[in-house]
Amino acid sequence: MTGARKPVVEVRRSQRRRRTVSAYRDGERVVVLIPDQFSRAEESEWVDRMLARLAAREGKLARSDTELLARATRLIELHLVEYGSQAVPASVRWVTNQNGRWGSCTPADRTIRISHRLQDMPEWVLDYVLIHELAHLIVPSHNAEFWALVGRYPRTERARGYLEGVAAAAGAPLDA
Ligand SMILES: [Zn+2]
Repeated sequence: MTGARKPVVEVRRSQRRRRTVSAYRDGERVVVLIPDQFSRAEESEWVDRMLARLAAREGKLARSDTELLARATRLIELHLVEYGSQAVPASVRWVTNQNGRWGSCTPADRTIRISHRLQDMPEWVLDYVLIHELAHLIVPSHNAEFWALVGRYPRTERARGYLEGVAAAAGAPLDA
């Protein structure tokens, strides 16, 4: 894992701007320019969107998405191999716009998204979130069958405890 550090973001509101948002890197900081009329929710949504755009432009997410897929493939081979293509995602991507969750899965199109906040966490925690989302390709809901699949990953309980600790420290509950 390449540890992508979270940039310092400076938001500047402008009364002249109406709907346009722009962002640029200024040394270690990222400056995001937004219309003055934006709500706090719009502000945070646009900051995440612009950070994702900047990162994509700089090729960072593209490189680590490949690593993410490689990790997922390895986890399938280790723990879910008898499910064959049923456990194989169409894509696994890092995203920066997922504030309430560590990961998410859309079984209909077999896509998995992983929060960029996992980039700074231990690899065994990332692997837990990956196997959690991969298991959703087989069992969409959080039932006993689902948890039995996730439990094949030996560090599931430890990783869940770790994430609960992180969420508690941040003062916000987070689901995976
Ligand atoms: Zn889940």
